Amino acid sequence: MVIATRSNPAEVLVDKHGRRIRKLRISLTDACNLRCRYCMPEHAVFSSGESLMPPSEIERIARNLAGLGIDSIRLTGGEPVVRSEFLEVVERVCSIPGVRVGLTTNGFKLAGNASALAKAGLGGANVSLDSLDPDNFRRIARGGDLGSVLEGIFAARDAGLRVKINTVLMRGWNDHELEAFHDFSAEHGLEVRFLELMRIGEALAFFQERFVPASEMIERLQRRSPLREVPVDADATAFERISDAGARLGFIASESRPFCGGCSRLRLSAKGSLRACLFKEDGLDLRGVPDEAIPDLVRKVVDLKPIGRIPSISQPMHAIGG
Ligand code: SAM
Ligand code: SF4
Repeated sequence: MVIATRSNPAEVLVDKHGRRIRKLRISLTDACNLRCRYCMPEHAVFSSGESLMPPSEIERIARNLAGLGIDSIRLTGGEPVVRSEFLEVVERVCSIPGVRVGLTTNGFKLAGNASALAKAGLGGANVSLDSLDPDNFRRIARGGDLGSVLEGIFAARDAGLRVKINTVLMRGWNDHELEAFHDFSAEHGLEVRFLELMRIGEALAFFQERFVPASEMIERLQRRSPLREVPVDADATAFERISDAGARLGFIASESRPFCGGCSRLRLSAKGSLRACLFKEDGLDLRGVPDEAIPDLVRKVVDLKPIGRIPSISQPMHAIGG
């Protein structure tokens, strides 16, 4: 396997806008054990197992990208944990030197995997949680069980993983729980990051009705407990606040305050297509491409990175890889 060394500056990825590209999201599958209303249709059709890249290929491509300066990898989906080779993929990706590995999961099957994930070297888990009320949780996710997700969150934390909660706040569905999430953060010392609903796939049908801007969330939360700013990295997607009550809160304002100008990410689909942006449907296939040919293809994708926010995409989020 020929892999470019990161000590060679020519091998670091910089796009035509001068942005250093260093983060990669890898989707392990488009399948999921939940059916969140804003993410996928109720009767979603998933790709066959054979069409997905095997763990060895995911590792090979990830190693090549690490050789080009990628130092942060997030495993996502669909729900990555439903993939039968999930732990093997985590172990393989965590074995790549110089790369921090995180996971984005719905937490439903996290409890039983937490210690194995920590042992494999996973750094952190971002767990999606849209309601603290069991009935509302099931309404939004069209199934699932709040208790199992909470169990997963605490098991992951106890296993030593850095845990963050991701909450998509939607008008009329869970915005009445905003303050409850604040209190949850303060009580358990866990960061809760509020995501604005994005104009993606399923959400396009009800975006206007359900969208809550981060500014409105902050205004309401200030009334709960005054918020102070926390400094973040230049390529961070969230801006962060700490409340006087001790809650750690993040805001991912992709619609009202897009962070595209500082974006440092690439995305690899479960089938091996490398994409320049969440909102760009076209990508270049890296599956089966010899190591020597990968850097040129990756640079071609990097050149496709937009500087500004693309308004919307019709493909559903679970299929893109969130
Ligand atoms: N299944 C995992 C999970 O739920 O965390 C990983 C994949 S999921 C697609 C990744 C993230 O995308 C989740 O936090 C989810 O809430 C978010 N998401 C999905 N559709 C979205 C939308 N239209 N707007 C904002 N966030 C969305
Ligand atoms: Fe599944 Fe995550 Fe999409 Fe919910 S947000 S349906 S858990 S992929």
